[in-house]
Amino acid sequence: MKEVIKIGIIICDRYSCCAGGKCFRSLKKEGAFSIYTDTDLELVGYTTCDGCPGGNIEYVGAELVKNGAEVIHLATGLVIGYPPGPYIETFIGFLENRYPVKVIVGTHPIPPSYLDTHTHLGTFESPPEKEYLPIILSDAAIREKYA
Ligand code: SF4
Repeated sequence: MKEVIKIGIIICDRYSCCAGGKCFRSLKKEGAFSIYTDTDLELVGYTTCDGCPGGNIEYVGAELVKNGAEVIHLATGLVIGYPPGPYIETFIGFLENRYPVKVIVGTHPIPPSYLDTHTHLGTFESPPEKEYLPIILSDAAIREKYA
């Protein structure tokens, strides 16, 4: 098992002014980062998609890989914004086929208010959003920390 895994984070440009508070907080192995049970994490890049349809994806993959990224996390905001990002599968397909990286959808746990709203909307009842929920769901106590 590796001691350190290098990761990059790409956020939805709707939140381009975000300082990364929830994503960075969750690097202590909460939400999607809870999968890294046996390794430390090193963040080697953080950027946005640059707005629909995500033109920055074409370029940031190379930059993140040059910095050693082995895994790219698409931020939780791509899934839980209204409406959920329509290009997530396109981003995954491009990045994983073009670069030697794995792409994971999710960073911080879903905040309770977003879970409530998306539950009401039925967002997570069908693919692809249904597949994105488990890794960002966490338990209620942890979700509350990201309210
Ligand atoms: S919805 Fe997708 S393409 Fe549009 S700004 Fe957000 S992440 Fe980028």
